[in-house]
Order: sequence, then C-alpha cells, then structure tokens
Amino acid sequence: MPSKLRASIMTVTAVVLTCIAVLSVSTSTAYPRPDVDMNDLSFYPKSEDMTPYPQTSSRSVRNVIFLIGDGMGLNQVMLARLKAVGLEGRLYLERLPVSGLARTHSSDNLVTDSAASGTALACGIKTKNGMIGVAPDRKAYRSLLEAAQAQGMATGLVVTSTISHATPASFGAHVRSRSDEAGIAEQLLSNKVDLLLGGGRKFFLPRSVRGGARRDRRNLMADANEAGYTLVSTTEGLQAVEDLPVLGLFQLDALTTAPPEPSLATLTEKAIDLLRDKRKGWFVHKRGFFLMVEGSQIDWACHDNDALHCVWQTLHFDLAVKAAVEFALADGRTLVVVTADHETGGLTIPGGSLDGSEVKVEWSTKGHSGSPVPVYAFGPGAERFAGVYDNTELSAKIAQLMRIEPWPQPIEEEEQAQPQSRLDEDDGDILAEVDWPRLQTAQYVN
Ligand SMILES: [Zn+2]
Repeated sequence: MPSKLRASIMTVTAVVLTCIAVLSVSTSTAYPRPDVDMNDLSFYPKSEDMTPYPQTSSRSVRNVIFLIGDGMGLNQVMLARLKAVGLEGRLYLERLPVSGLARTHSSDNLVTDSAASGTALACGIKTKNGMIGVAPDRKAYRSLLEAAQAQGMATGLVVTSTISHATPASFGAHVRSRSDEAGIAEQLLSNKVDLLLGGGRKFFLPRSVRGGARRDRRNLMADANEAGYTLVSTTEGLQAVEDLPVLGLFQLDALTTAPPEPSLATLTEKAIDLLRDKRKGWFVHKRGFFLMVEGSQIDWACHDNDALHCVWQTLHFDLAVKAAVEFALADGRTLVVVTADHETGGLTIPGGSLDGSEVKVEWSTKGHSGSPVPVYAFGPGAERFAGVYDNTELSAKIAQLMRIEPWPQPIEEEEQAQPQSRLDEDDGDILAEVDWPRLQTAQYVN
C-alpha cells in the first residue's frame, strides 16, 4: 500500500476514534467513568509468557473461582489484547488452557440482561430479564454459592458494582426484580455469605444516615457487625482483616475503580487469602471455597460505547484472573472459570493495523447484544468447558465438578421462608450468651 494512502487511512481512523471519544464524553452521564488517564496502561504488567498455563494433574476440585466479565464479548477481549499486548500477544485470561463459547439468551428475550444471565450462570435455569435467582414462575433455585455453602465450603462475592447488583445478587439472593437492591442486600447477609467486597453501602444504611437509601430504617451495617462481620471501607482496613466473615463496602454507590480504592485484583487476592484454608487460629474451613469475582464495569463502558474505558476495565478484570490462576497453579485443586454474562455494545473491529497502533472500532447498540460469549477454564475438569453450550450448561458443568446433585436445585418453600428480621433478633439473643469465636463458628462453618 502506498505510504500516502496508508497515512490518509490512519488519519481517517484517528478521526473516527476521536469522534467516538467525543461522543462517549458527551453521553456518558448514566455511568461512572474513573477519573484517570486511560491511555496509561502502566498498571498492567504484560504477560511475558505467551504459552497456555499448564493443565493440572489433580482430578478433584476443592475450590472454585468463577470470574465474570460483565459485557465482555470476544471483541472486548480482542480490543484489550490489541491495546495491551498486541495482536499476537495473550491476555492472562487467554492463557487458560481450555476455551469454549456460551449462548446467553434469556427465557423471554434473545438479548439477555445481567439478572437473567446471572441467574443462568448461578442457578442453572433460564429466567426472564430482570429476575434474580427465580424461575419465570417465581420459584427460587439454589445458586452454586448456596450449594457450596451447604457443602461446608466458604463463600465470597467480589465486584466493582454495588454488591447488590444483578450479577452478585444472582449468587446470593432470590427476588423478582433486580431493582430491589435493598432487599438483595438484606438477603446477602441473611444468607451468611462469608465475604462480600464491592460497592453499595447505601443499600445497607437507612435514609436517616447520610447517603443511606433504605426506606425500612434498618441499618444492615450494624446488623452485620452484630452478626460477627468485620466491616471495612478502605484498602488499609481490608489488608488488616484476618478472619471471615467480612463485609467490605468501599463506596456508597458503585466503586470508582480507581485509587485509593483497592483494585479488583487486590480485592480478589485478599478474598482468596481469607477464603483459603487457614491452619492458624480457631477458624478453619476444611472444605474449600467458592468465590465469584465480577468485572462489573466492562458492561458500563460498553453501554457508553467508550472503547478506551472498555479496554481499561477489561485489563483490570484480566489482572483479577491472573491473581486467581496464580493461586490455582500453586494450589492444584482449584477450578478457575472465566466468562461473560453477555456482550454489550455490539462491538466490532472493522479495521486497523497489524501492529495494533491503529484500531477502528464500531458499536451497533448502546445496549446488550445476543452474541455468544467466550469461556476460559483452568484446573481440574477444565477440559469439560470446551465446545459450544448454553450458559445454564456452563453452570451445570461447574455443579458437576463440585459434586452437587441434582442441578438445577429448586429451593423448597419452607427453606425459602426466612423471617425478615432473623439477623438482628436471633443473633442478638445468642450474642448475649456466647463468646465471639463460638458464635462465629456456629454461624459460619457448617
Ligand atoms: Zn449492561
């Protein structure tokens, strides 16, 4: 190609990118965007090794780390790769040895939302957009996290959205509408999830407290504290935590995903550290853990059709994957599964240079698309994640490796009926009689 022509194409591309950037600035009022220089990717240590991680020899799964990039389709991954490591490089998630593709439609729509797809991934059932942990007939189904809990495993949720947002909610709550974040916050606590890290303190606080959003006047932070949770809201506070259960809410609303907040990778590392077997002290989980980590804001960047922000969020998510795999490599009995709940933005890459210096991006929607999403797996049983399957089957594959049967699992009516004030009433009484360690052991290890 004559260099003059090539130069002019690049100019056109640059103009297109500039237009996209300008557009995204003027329309990005609905979603937060971290106040950082997104061209500065120095936070991302490139993978020097471009080979796949070695497959583990163990056959049994002890721990599961399930990482969900909200809105992260194949082209989101490609764009992040082009920008960070070049066309022929690999992101950490692309070094997982097995990959597959998952279908994402919901029970009532070709294009799912995060509630229906979260429910498919967490509970193994198709439901309507907007519904959390329940089938279209409103029957509740157990999530992988709840089933893990029933097996005596420690459990955790790590996100960059509010902790009561659709994806984490699907793993620890059952509600008809994802917008009931106050109800979801209450269920996450009454469900005794051992570790909750993310944003959304406002849904735990009554309106009488500054920034609180609860209309029922309850202070779930106080309730959680009484139930034995360590409460933290800063990076330093989090690093000082030594025992479960922990409730770490670093913002009233979603996380900013910028310092001084802990990064998603830092949250993931600390979560693994707390959830893994501890031989020191009285608090010993002997049966492994289940951890769900969500890169929540890839989706938001894509709703804004903001390519740079999408890359930035995807790379931060990739570093959480790196933390998970590094633990799994050393542990040998940890299954790591990485996927997305759906694609957002209808992102395509219709042009660009081979060296990645110029990349043309186009978006076909401000919403979600019906594209299949990638699945990457590492660890015992990872080979089962090869192929093309439904997102409910992805859930079933994990359940099978965790020896949970049958799957999906409806929750019986009497199990479901939990008194609203269980946390403060019951636990308040016990508190007066027993010491902390006994109380916490009784509550959180079963
Ligand atoms: Zn979305």
